[in-house]
Amino acid sequence: MSVKPYFHLNDENKMPVIGFGTYAPETYPKRMAEEATEIAIRAGYRHIDGAYLYGNEAEVGRAIQKTIADGTIRREDLFYTGKLWSTFHSPDLVRQGLERSLKDLQLDYLDLFLIHVPVDLQPGEDLLPVDENGKYLYGNTNIQDTWEAMEQCKVAGRVKSIGVSNFNRRQLELILKKPRLKYKPVCNQVECHLYLNQEKMLKFCKSHDILLVGYSTLGSSRDGTWGIGGDCPVLLEDPVLNHIAKKLGKTPAQVALRFLLQRGIVPLAKSFTKHRIEENLQVFNFNLEKKDMRSLEALNKNLRYDKMSMWEDHPQYPFYDEY
Ligand code: NDP
Repeated sequence: MSVKPYFHLNDENKMPVIGFGTYAPETYPKRMAEEATEIAIRAGYRHIDGAYLYGNEAEVGRAIQKTIADGTIRREDLFYTGKLWSTFHSPDLVRQGLERSLKDLQLDYLDLFLIHVPVDLQPGEDLLPVDENGKYLYGNTNIQDTWEAMEQCKVAGRVKSIGVSNFNRRQLELILKKPRLKYKPVCNQVECHLYLNQEKMLKFCKSHDILLVGYSTLGSSRDGTWGIGGDCPVLLEDPVLNHIAKKLGKTPAQVALRFLLQRGIVPLAKSFTKHRIEENLQVFNFNLEKKDMRSLEALNKNLRYDKMSMWEDHPQYPFYDEY
């Protein structure tokens, strides 16, 4: 089975694979994101996944500007995804949320702008607003109104495509059923890997010509960032995955990424280590046969590494529904 280096979106734009993830915990110096993004672009990544929340778009933007300036890439060859943070859901703040990213990145437009999570937080400078008891302060914006403001960002030419992230089926349907819908989401970016293979969400998305973009495809970072407990299985150490990787002379990470690609999913992969950044891009020169695909599919256990537990009592918490 051949896999193209890009996927078509429902608005005629194209999304290159693999996406380079730029998130790193607060303990990492921000310059690491700049160095890693530069390495990634030079290695051949053409899709960079970022977000205002990550607090490193200025650094990521510097790496982009540097590689454009020295002729490594042209702006039009690069696909940058940014995300609207939850304190900017109010329709009058959506454009502001976008413009902050564009300014930090020194870009005129984003290729893709996503609603980062469906949960709406109280607007303000504090990105994670809490009351005196440490309880999160929620907003009360209707997600359909946020979407309408996202559509206006596309109309204004400041983003090429718009989509969502961490939406469940019901929340996606709310957007799809919005009265006077101008553009449907091009993608839903969700946690997706061998242990949470998102079969049902994938089927639903495909039936609406919505692309599924997967994050934490390698089992996410093991440094406690997402509260991944010691009792959670380490995805890249899975025996079945390792057996198949050894048989094919590939690494477990390459097989884990190829598994998603062959199912029509765009995988994101984060690494700030040069040889792993390069390794994760070498997924186009081998094939997983049906038998191996079936063995890998059987590893699913609906295990979510990032449960976003801090918002479990939020009315828009996405992970109570089956999918
Ligand atoms: P990943 O699943 O991509 O895993 C990253 C971890 O795997 C790092 O610790 C990295 O270490 C390690 N790693 C990378 N490549 C290899 C390899 N070849 N072999 C062994 N280990 C490897 O995790 P993330 O959770 O960071 O997800 C990726 C991206 O997805 C994020 O950076 C972000 O852009 C996006 N994301 C989006 C979310 C959303 O809500 N929309 C939520 C979470 C992530 P090292 O760096 O040391 O190489």
